[in-house]
Amino acid sequence: MKNKNKYDVLIAGGGVAGISCAYNCAKLGLKTLLVEKENYLGGDTTGALVVPVMKTDTKDLNTKFYNDLIKYSKNNGAQLTYGDKNQGWFNPILLKYVFDKMLKSCKCDILFESQITKVYTKEKSINKIKVSNKLLSLPIVSKYYVDTTGDASLSKLLKCEFWDDNKIKQPESLRFLVSGVDINLFADFLEQIDNDKNVTTTYRIDNEIHLSTAYTWDASKKWALDKFFKQALSQNLLIESDLAYFQLFTIAKMPGTIAFNCPRLRDYNHSNPFDYANALIEAREAILRLHKFLVASFPGFKNSFISSIAARTGERETSRVKCLYDYTIEDIITQKAFENPALYSNYPIDIHSNQKDKSVLYKVCSYSFPIESLKSKNYDNLYVAGKIAGCDFKSQAALRVQSSCMSMGEAVACDIYKNIN
Ligand SMILES: Cc1cc2nc3c(=O)[nH]c(=O)nc-3n(C[C@H](O)[C@H](O)[C@H](O)COP(=O)(O)OP(=O)(O)OC[C@H]3O[C@@H](n4cnc5c(N)ncnc54)[C@H](O)[C@@H]3O)c2cc1C
Repeated sequence: MKNKNKYDVLIAGGGVAGISCAYNCAKLGLKTLLVEKENYLGGDTTGALVVPVMKTDTKDLNTKFYNDLIKYSKNNGAQLTYGDKNQGWFNPILLKYVFDKMLKSCKCDILFESQITKVYTKEKSINKIKVSNKLLSLPIVSKYYVDTTGDASLSKLLKCEFWDDNKIKQPESLRFLVSGVDINLFADFLEQIDNDKNVTTTYRIDNEIHLSTAYTWDASKKWALDKFFKQALSQNLLIESDLAYFQLFTIAKMPGTIAFNCPRLRDYNHSNPFDYANALIEAREAILRLHKFLVASFPGFKNSFISSIAARTGERETSRVKCLYDYTIEDIITQKAFENPALYSNYPIDIHSNQKDKSVLYKVCSYSFPIESLKSKNYDNLYVAGKIAGCDFKSQAALRVQSSCMSMGEAVACDIYKNIN
């Protein structure tokens, strides 16, 4: 085999966990290959339009990638710092370019539209894999392999063990963007109807207004938009399920554009792809209904239009891989200390449900997450990172935020570097 097909690290999946891992590995001088199924990097962040990165109030660990991402994005007009000092307000369209640029800067090899199609193992070691794309099939040998596929597809190919502690799937969301909005008019309106700022924030940043607000059908909060949703329901502009979850954010350097963290897909039968197709079609119908509702109900939307519907649904949770340490919600609640923490966070436990008043968002104190929950139980040279990390269902509902996924990827890179050197 030629040397060019030999790597120190092969990372499958170019979402934020994989990109962070690849960036740090390559920066540390490791020969690194990132294999991505789509033709762009970013996973949920760019493909499912997940912005902004949620802020935690704890000092985190392994933040080199995130800090560099902020710098690169700032230099390329793809970032803003929100009024609450959250630096993670990105432009999801331009991030595709920023991620490319960051990985090329550190000489990381990338294969797009490629997937691992075969694995060759001996006992607890992965010896070789085959990567296939529309041009060719390549055998690749690497010292270490990292699964950051967001759906654990590499670990599934390897027949690894998985957590089996949750029968209820959280709803997926199909996010969308609306452009041509008069943000000033909309901000004035929101400030009037939510003057105690219960769920709305508005700030003037770089001579532009930026804002966020939300509404859900849960009784947990006083929702300023409540009467507008109820009225639209009575006028048949919306249907009941449209009231489940609605959240919006303006976007860095996209004047007049708003990103919507909705609609949720209805619960569908996960072993029936036809049912999934229908749920997806219904979600796109919901986007059209929501836009008509925005135009009819709120100042600022008169000349607006739907400018993007996410290329993929956002899946909050898929499969979680069994690792050397079984991390659970107890570790968060008891604030267990670990010898080798991969990250610190205090992001709350955030469990979404399609049933009224069944979603959960509860605050927790600062917790840490160990590197052992990123090392596969089944293979000595396999790591995992991101939303498929080795933790139980409830703790994943806190750990899945993008900043934690980035720290996990970086922690894996540092651990591999230590092993190799
Ligand atoms: C609806 C929704 C809203 C959210 N809101 C927020 C929020 O506001 N703020 C926040 O911080 N977090 C939020 N999150 C969480 C966060 O976005 C995700 O948990 C995080 O981005 C996951 O990153 P990841 O790298 O683990 O996986 P992913 O982003 O899923 O990346 C996995 C990558 O692997 C690729 N891939 C898959 N299979 C293969 C294969 N076989 N071979 C090669 N490549 C493959 C995929 O194409 C993808 O690029 C939200 C998530 C969802 C779903």
